[in-house]
Order: sequence, then C-alpha cells, then structure tokens
Amino acid sequence: MIQITMPLNFLGTVYREIRQALVDMAEMFDLLDQPADVTDAPDARALQVTQGEIRFEQVKFGYDTARPILKGIDLTVRAGQTVAIVGPSGSGKSTIGRLLFRFYDASGGAVLIDGQDLRDVTQSSLHAAIGVVPQDTVLFNDTIAYNIAYGREGATRSEIEDAARAARIHDFIISLPEGYETTVGERGLKLSGGEKQRVGIARTLLKNPPILLLDEATSALDTQTEQNIQESLRQMGQGRTVITIAHRLSTVVDADRIVVLDQGHIVESGTHDELLARNGQYAAMWARQRINSTVES
Ligand code: ADP
Ligand code: MG
Repeated sequence: MIQITMPLNFLGTVYREIRQALVDMAEMFDLLDQPADVTDAPDARALQVTQGEIRFEQVKFGYDTARPILKGIDLTVRAGQTVAIVGPSGSGKSTIGRLLFRFYDASGGAVLIDGQDLRDVTQSSLHAAIGVVPQDTVLFNDTIAYNIAYGREGATRSEIEDAARAARIHDFIISLPEGYETTVGERGLKLSGGEKQRVGIARTLLKNPPILLLDEATSALDTQTEQNIQESLRQMGQGRTVITIAHRLSTVVDADRIVVLDQGHIVESGTHDELLARNGQYAAMWARQRINSTVES
C-alpha cells in the first residue's frame, strides 16, 4: 500500500508543479509571447526574498546580436515601491519583464532581486516570487474555483473565496447558478475581460507573491472597467514591489516613480508631477493622450 501511494503522491506533486508551471508559462506566453530559453545553473539556489528589491544594473539585451533592444538599463525598484514603465510600443517594456522572469539572460550587466543575480537562483523559486498579471488572463476549461486555486497548490475553499472577495468577484460568482463550480473558459461560461482580470487578480492574491509584474493588465478593458480593476490592482500592490507596464498613462499617475523607455534607454525618470514639470517626452505623451481621450469621449 505504502509502496503504491508514495510514488502516486510524488507523481501528484510533480503533476501539480508542472500544471502550475504551465499556468505561469501560459500567462507569460500570453504576456510575453516567448518560449523559455534558459536553464538552472548546476549549483542554483532558491531565491531568498528578504525585502523584494529589484535591480537592473547596466542591462543590455537583444533577441539577436545584430539588433540591441535594451542598451544599458539601470533601474532600481525599492522594496514596496511601484515603478511604472512607459514608452512607445516596441521600446522594450515587455522585454524588461521577460528578463525579470528570466525568460532570457541579459547579454551584459545583471538583474538582481535582493542582491541575488537571477542567473544564480532556481527558476522555480524565481517564478514563485513573481505574480504576473498580463493583458489577458488565461482561463482553463474548468471551474472558477479551480481557475482561482491555480494561484496556489492546496488552497482551501475558504482561502479561494477570500481571494475572490478581495478581488471583488465573489458576489458575481455566487450569483451564478453553479457558483464556484461554474465551468469557464473556451467551452464554458465566457467571462468578460474585466471578470477574467478579476479571476487573475484572485489567483495572484492566492499565490501571494512579494513581487508583481503587471504588463498592460488593463489595456484591453474599457475605461470604466479599467478604473475599477485599477483600484483592485492598487490594493494588491500594497506591501509588494510592483513593476507596472502601462499603455494608458492615466493608470500610472500614482506610481512612486515613472520611467520612460525609448530606443533601449531610460530617457526620463520621476514622479508624474516631476515629469510634467520637466516638459519632456512624458509631458508630450501625457498631452497627446489627453487630447485623444477628449476626442473619444
Ligand atoms: P514593448 O513591450 O515596449 O512594446 P517589447 O519589449 O515587446 O516592446 O519589444 C521590443 C522590441 O523587441 C520590438 O521591436 C519587438 O519587435 C522586438 N522583439 C520582441 N520579441 C522578439 C523576438 N522574440 N525576436 C526578435 N525581436 C523581438
Ligand atoms: Mg509590451
């Protein structure tokens, strides 16, 4: 009996770990659209997150050597801070996220979390420390409870419901005839973009990572839904270190710091007010978006 259950338990654990890794991969594929390209060092250790400080030191990177994308990025996100990355499409914002998740290694410089070079830590420990909310949360053809619980292996129903409450999706879920047992995804109930993002937030809250990476997490939503979700994202960011990549500048006004990326360089950095006063690239982007949103509404 024991001889049978032990390997089965072991397989169960491996299976769950693989499934969890697949969720993260799916989120990252969606977010980043890239395969993992990197393996653990033979003597890799588990990342120890003590504070949650992220540091990019003179990071250089290109998908091919002929075309550098990041040309020497120095960026420190102190523990508990929210730093927003803005800049033109194609400027390398998501690439910064990919390097933080170590989908690729920098070709020059280093990425560190609490002083530990990402090349020296195991990918499983790194991925456990970072919660990703991409533009579109990937849902499985399974129950809502199952989809939320993917944030953490072995979560109880009451933990799942607490996460759903905090993500403000609990009331919606219990209004469904089958509640938490409702099947969602391609072959189940189609959730709206906002509802999907709330499931993603609940999943991430359950995972409870010290570091959050939001890559245009609300850019597929209408303005009203975006504002509602933005509030939940802000709450989720409390007490965590957050890198948020934003398309609409209205969502980054409250960041502790905003960095403007252009052609592989950080060209401006400061608070919203500081950057407006500087009257540079950020101020120009802000003015353009204000005009566009006035025209839209
Ligand atoms: P952003 O998120 O700021 O819009 P990205 O970081 O996604 O920009 O991309 C930066 C640049 O890298 C773009 O020019 C993009 O086309 C290029 N790029 C992204 N992924 C790849 C890849 N796998 N191979 C080659 N070039 C890529
Ligand atoms: Mg991007």
